[in-house]
Amino acid sequence: MKTLKSLVQGRWHEADSGFANLVNPSNGETVARASSAGIDFPAAYAFARDTGGPALRALTVARRGELLKEVSRAIHQHRDELIALSLLNSGATRKDAKFDLDGATGTLAYYASLARDGGDARFVSLDGGMQLGRTARFWGRHLLVPRQGVAVHINAFNFPAWGFAEKAAQAILAGMPVITKPATSTALVTERCIEIIHEAGILPQGAMSLICGSTGDLLSLLGGQDVLAFTGSADTALKLRSYPNLLSSNTRANLEADSLNAAVLGPGVSDDSDTWDLFLADVFREMTQKTGQKCTAVRRIMVPSDRLASVREALCDRLSGIVVGNPADSSVNMGPLSTADQLQDAVNGIALLRESAELVFGTGERCDGVGAEPGTGFYMAPVLLEAGDPAGSPTLHQHEVFGPVATLMPYDGSPAEASRLVAMAGGTLVTSLYCDDQEFVESFTAETGAFTGRLYLGSKKMADQAPGSGVALPQSLHGGPGRAGGGEELGGLRGIALYSQPVAVQGSRPMVDKLCGEFHSR
Ligand code: NAP
Repeated sequence: MKTLKSLVQGRWHEADSGFANLVNPSNGETVARASSAGIDFPAAYAFARDTGGPALRALTVARRGELLKEVSRAIHQHRDELIALSLLNSGATRKDAKFDLDGATGTLAYYASLARDGGDARFVSLDGGMQLGRTARFWGRHLLVPRQGVAVHINAFNFPAWGFAEKAAQAILAGMPVITKPATSTALVTERCIEIIHEAGILPQGAMSLICGSTGDLLSLLGGQDVLAFTGSADTALKLRSYPNLLSSNTRANLEADSLNAAVLGPGVSDDSDTWDLFLADVFREMTQKTGQKCTAVRRIMVPSDRLASVREALCDRLSGIVVGNPADSSVNMGPLSTADQLQDAVNGIALLRESAELVFGTGERCDGVGAEPGTGFYMAPVLLEAGDPAGSPTLHQHEVFGPVATLMPYDGSPAEASRLVAMAGGTLVTSLYCDDQEFVESFTAETGAFTGRLYLGSKKMADQAPGSGVALPQSLHGGPGRAGGGEELGGLRGIALYSQPVAVQGSRPMVDKLCGEFHSR
């Protein structure tokens, strides 16, 4: 059986005890094991900080961008091999695996492209400056200076490639070394990506380390120059942000957590319009892509009461075309959930939601998968629920079922009622609104904007270009308030601010301008 290794202090470490098994969710067979036992975490941390950090900071921003481009290319060259690993360890269909891998290489390439105009700048400045004195001789600007610690990245199981790559792209471009830790259950793809990068010798020594298994005492080593960026459940986020050393030294912590994202159908969208088609296509995709295991998946579908029956019928019709099973079978278009625990959590979660909603599609129980031995694998068909009284059912807005599950919620067709329902989740990553009525869009935005990190406005004018509400495009911010973790990632060059100290520089204009250079984030 394959034993995953960690990359620390510039060399591979293989544990000899304390293993957790990685399983093929399509048949329940063990495919690898992982453990971080025996890692000297203080030495691993010090190597990244003292070897990787100075090496990255010595490079221009443009050179760091070139390295990201090479990393993107190296991973892309192994695309087929990585897709096969994803099928084996995540139960992803080929389409889902490509979504993860192309998201990873695309984000790396995007950040590389942002640095192309960096010239010989070693810093990114936030602005072109402003007059501070009586005349323009006394001038001020804001500069992003790389932090001199380590960026520790802890990722969720659902995007083993994209998850590590999007965080690493921002940190490395900013000039910070990374220690990345994938979720153990799906670490096979991440381990191979890091191996590919290491073998290609692209990054300076110590710029990228990997922990497979537990983080040991790593987090208790972090201080004021370090960054912790986490993606996962709200429960784990709370545990991590409560480390006393992180609190006492004000370590930057960026948390991306659970989110009960909403898709809202506006009033007056007729069944034969492009907006209607986009709404249905997006909701269907967001329920079933990656078996609903996406932080940006749609969990709540808000529909004017007089359109409820049409939406229910159209969605049930689409969902009946889903073939659940082993992605190795070509007829399958939705794979299993990633682990036995995820399946059990989904079954329990649906039972809880059913206390406030009716089942209108699916069973909410494990099923056998096409192309899999009966009784093996962690399969579940899509589930659509319908709430009679969404405003009086807080559980429907607070309990995230991380699977192919969503709840239909009628509302009175007003922006105020739709916004109230959206806000009941206490903060989401993305809210999508399908509507061609500008007045409704403006009222809805004013009421809902404070409760969501991204507003995706589906309408007939953009329907043929939209990638869907679930895609975290690197150009746009990713993260949401409150329950969603309160984090901010991506958003173009804004993404590197997490890994930098913003410094207000004040002085004579020529001196400040020469120091800060011409490379602005906006
Ligand atoms: P999780 O159980 O919270 O685990 C996330 C990561 O935290 C894993 O790498 C896990 O490692 C690690 N971890 C757990 N306890 C830890 C501890 N005490 N110290 C250090 N690391 C620890 O979440 P998950 O089940 O992997 O992911 C599903 C959740 O992630 C869902 O709730 C989903 O909404 C959320 N998610 C959010 C986003 C976003 O961008 N906001 C994106 C994707 C997923 P082990 O695997 O080794 O336990």
